[in-house]
Amino acid sequence: MYKWEENIRKVEPYVPGAQPRQKDIIKLNTNENPYPPSQKVIDAIRESDLDTAMRKYPDPTSNELTKAIKEYYGLEDEQVFVGTGSDDVLSIAFLTCFNSDKPIVFPDVTYSFYPVWAKVYGIPYREIPVDDGMRVRVEDYGVGEGKHEPNGGVVIANPNAPTGIALSRKEILEVVEANPDVVVIVDEAYVDYSGESALPLLMDHENLLIVRTFSKSRAMAGARIGFAIGSPRLIGAMNDVAQSINSYTKPTLSLTAAVASIADEEYFRARIDDVLKTRARTVLELKKRGFSVLPSSTNFVFAAPSRIDAGLLYEELGDRKIYVRHFNGEKTKKYLRITIGTDREMDSLFAAIDEIMHTY
Ligand code: PMP
Repeated sequence: MYKWEENIRKVEPYVPGAQPRQKDIIKLNTNENPYPPSQKVIDAIRESDLDTAMRKYPDPTSNELTKAIKEYYGLEDEQVFVGTGSDDVLSIAFLTCFNSDKPIVFPDVTYSFYPVWAKVYGIPYREIPVDDGMRVRVEDYGVGEGKHEPNGGVVIANPNAPTGIALSRKEILEVVEANPDVVVIVDEAYVDYSGESALPLLMDHENLLIVRTFSKSRAMAGARIGFAIGSPRLIGAMNDVAQSINSYTKPTLSLTAAVASIADEEYFRARIDDVLKTRARTVLELKKRGFSVLPSSTNFVFAAPSRIDAGLLYEELGDRKIYVRHFNGEKTKKYLRITIGTDREMDSLFAAIDEIMHTY
């Protein structure tokens, strides 16, 4: 090791799902939308002034998109923070909201980026075990008679990932009310797929921050747009931190695309319905094949095969150009996380599973 390396910050990074460039892969590994974004999104990009969009810096305030989000959700002014995907929004939220010596808390089975941000920003954290059914127990976050050690903040993905299991709005309210002196971040990346949003709770709880993304239900993972909704005080603090790091983060074309997506409600709802129908069928087909499937409120299922090791099935599916996700943690290694694709893609998955199980 060189002397200068003593001053280097060393971290173990988050490992994102593979993004193969070949077209013939059935990609069920990163919870993208199997359907294209609205035609209005494509048209808005095509009709953009590409010279300006490329040559000039984008609007640092994302004014037009902020306004569109505000109107869509019926919010007050200054309640919206726009970032470069919700990973960026969450990262800024961690940096802004968790500046305490006490540990922040989140489930031990959840979005695996949370501990990575905590480590890189030097935020102490404590992981709270989910129960045997992989559920988040709100009692462990200070609700009711539950034990409540002081914490520096709470992060809950609702619905949770990779389990897909949702808490009710009432349960989220209980967690927020049990933790009035810290910020509670609710990551609603998947809430459009039948979760109950915490949005109605914002009015009475200034310490609640809701994080959303355009990557999943709006089929725009490549545009990298996410946002947070919270009280003007909280959003103001996040904007100050964000503007202390980088002014021009959201590309003009991505902002244009996001505004157009919000304007096409009918298409948005129809594609969510498509995914929900395929999800119901997928659960049945997997159960028929001996999988136990956790109740999903998302565009993916977390399913444990019973007749074959999950890691082996993951490898075998990969060999057949079907990509799913396998997390090798103690509690997660029995499961595969499978994104809901089109019906045809899921049929290919079921056929491949049948073929693989036949050979073992
Ligand atoms: N939160 C959760 C729970 C996720 O699964 C993801 C997707 N990996 C994100 C946030 C981030 O998504 P994006 O940055 O594309 O908005």
